[in-house]
Amino acid sequence: MKTIGLLGGMSWESSLEYYRIINEGVKEQLGKLHSAKIILNSVDFEPIEELQHKNEWKKLGDLLADEAKKVESAGAEFLLICTNTMHKVADTVQDRINIPLLHIADATAEALIKNKVKKVGLLGTKFTMEEDFYKKRLEDRFDLEVVTPDKKDRELIHQIIYNELCLGVIKDDSKKIYLDIINSLSEKGAEGIILGCTEIGLLVKEGDCSIKLYDTTKIHADKATEIALDE
Ligand code: GLU
Repeated sequence: MKTIGLLGGMSWESSLEYYRIINEGVKEQLGKLHSAKIILNSVDFEPIEELQHKNEWKKLGDLLADEAKKVESAGAEFLLICTNTMHKVADTVQDRINIPLLHIADATAEALIKNKVKKVGLLGTKFTMEEDFYKKRLEDRFDLEVVTPDKKDRELIHQIIYNELCLGVIKDDSKKIYLDIINSLSEKGAEGIILGCTEIGLLVKEGDCSIKLYDTTKIHADKATEIALDE
């Protein structure tokens, strides 16, 4: 079994899910008392969130690369950055480590392609929904058509992520807002919805709506388990 490196804490609410999903996956496949070999480096999210909103991405790239190096030197054989947004600095991180980075958008695209989805709705932070590092990667590398909510709805989604979900606050009103937005993306022709923020799965779950949800936390964590067990 390979040792999985997790760069977490962004937020820890979702890192907890990675830890649980990966261990459940290993237990399911290997049985007995087997559990995953994981090196988790969990950072302090507050200063990171401040730098994000000040647009200090060079500093954030350096910071995450330093933390990733610690995971590598502790013995991880491949790395996951446990947040969609921070994949904005994924190239910087990959350039400074020698182990492979399992990109969250690539794992997600693989799941979409497997289900023959061509047009997909994307929910996430404003960084993820509006900038090229994520959306364009899905479009250019995987030939997917990505639709996002309108500006007002993107703002609402973003605020709920930082002011509620990353703090472990789960509200029915916010769930309703998300489900309405999901519905509007479905009306725009989306055949599936990417929960492109690792905390959204805490609020909205499969079965809450008729359209298929692609929870990036679950997809990313399951792919890590698959790689770890693929000897
Ligand atoms: N975990 C979230 C994501 O997947 C948002 C927190 C962050 O900004 O990293 O994008």
